Amino acid sequence: MRTLEQIAAALQGYDPQALAVAQVQAFLQALVTPLPDTANEEIPLLEAAERVLSHDVISPIDVPAHDNSAMDGYAFRGQDLTPTQDTVLRIVGTAFAGKAWQGTVQAGECLRIMTGAILPAGLDTVVPQELCRLNEADATVTLPGNTVKPGDNRRLRGEDLRQGAAALRQGQRITPAALGLLASLGLPRVKVMRRLRVAYFSTGDEVLSLGEAAREGAIYDSNRYTVFGMLRRLGCEVIDLGVVPDDPSRLEQAFSAAAQQADAVITSGGVSVGEADFTKAMMKKLGDVAFWKIAMRPGRPMAVGRIGSAVLFGLPGNPVAVMVTFLAFVRPALLHMMGCTDTPAPMLKARSLERLRKKPGRTEYQRGIVTRNAQGRLEVRTTGNQGSGVLSSMVSGNGLIVLDHAQGDVALGDEVDVLMFEGAL
Ligand code: AMP
Ligand code: MG
Repeated sequence: MRTLEQIAAALQGYDPQALAVAQVQAFLQALVTPLPDTANEEIPLLEAAERVLSHDVISPIDVPAHDNSAMDGYAFRGQDLTPTQDTVLRIVGTAFAGKAWQGTVQAGECLRIMTGAILPAGLDTVVPQELCRLNEADATVTLPGNTVKPGDNRRLRGEDLRQGAAALRQGQRITPAALGLLASLGLPRVKVMRRLRVAYFSTGDEVLSLGEAAREGAIYDSNRYTVFGMLRRLGCEVIDLGVVPDDPSRLEQAFSAAAQQADAVITSGGVSVGEADFTKAMMKKLGDVAFWKIAMRPGRPMAVGRIGSAVLFGLPGNPVAVMVTFLAFVRPALLHMMGCTDTPAPMLKARSLERLRKKPGRTEYQRGIVTRNAQGRLEVRTTGNQGSGVLSSMVSGNGLIVLDHAQGDVALGDEVDVLMFEGAL
């Protein structure tokens, strides 16, 4: 395991007093390592939603198991088609889904067939019922010319998944689609990574827990709630250590308890410059921790490192800064630790409905509201006041406008990158 000093030495132009967002991300990728795939458990499929696969899943069967019909209609031999003229076929029976039809279909004959029913040997083409004419008097159907080609409307055995092939890969997050796919293989249980354990607490004498009486100058703790919500969405096991006042012995207790129980520790507050220095001093005393000023807005101060075997993320105190730094840094790092190989949600491009002032040399995350205009194009306006304490902007916004490090002012109508909350927060 590399020390912080070694990781920093490998980063181009590392300056803890002015780190670019991309440097922080690179640093964190080097700092955290995935849980070993032995840290797994086998659980019932329905409990596996949102977990991460610890192994490749090899398909024990072909899916579908037989060639079958994709339509309600008539199945026949493709070679019986007279391409440009009517084809008349004699109906010899009906095949339903879930039961193999017994019998044989000869040249010039067809079988009425339902969606999902097995195609008997020799039949390779299905004409949907609405494209042909049923002649009840002589039990035949007439297909007009040019309606279907040989092989149409047939689902081939194994076209979804082949027996013996990897149906899903290690590191895949079990999305609703993956859950359904595992079920289609007939697997009632699945091996997943154990949940990542994440402990968190808020710091500050002015921070009140819910249930405490309000007092002048004090604020209710919101960070523990946003952090809880974001961790829940990642499927982490959460350990809530409450609000810890600016008091060395209470802080030491909290950090030690957190590091002993958890894979990662998240704190908020106490890492900015003007702070009563207890939080930073305690991080320094108990662990290997770097203190950064990041060229970003919101979210400038941050502490990162290790306490014991736990990874520490010391986030700023301001509520929006907590959410933005979580999204930009903590979330990708935790996903990496969980062994998740998902590709991050893509950014959208939207036209700015406002002029935005932006200084080159830092990354800005403005809360935005993305809408579609009458022409179907995406547009974005800001939520208004972009103060790093204005948590209501994270509720009224549906995405973050990401103005990258080198970018300057945005003119009306310019395209900007937007990271949508859905799928991320
Ligand atoms: P700090 O980084 O500790 O100086 O905090 C920066 C700002 O965030 C201060 O205005 C704090 O009152 C506020 N703050 C710190 N912790 C929390 C919290 N848990 N919930 C809401 N606001 C907080
Ligand atoms: Mg504080």
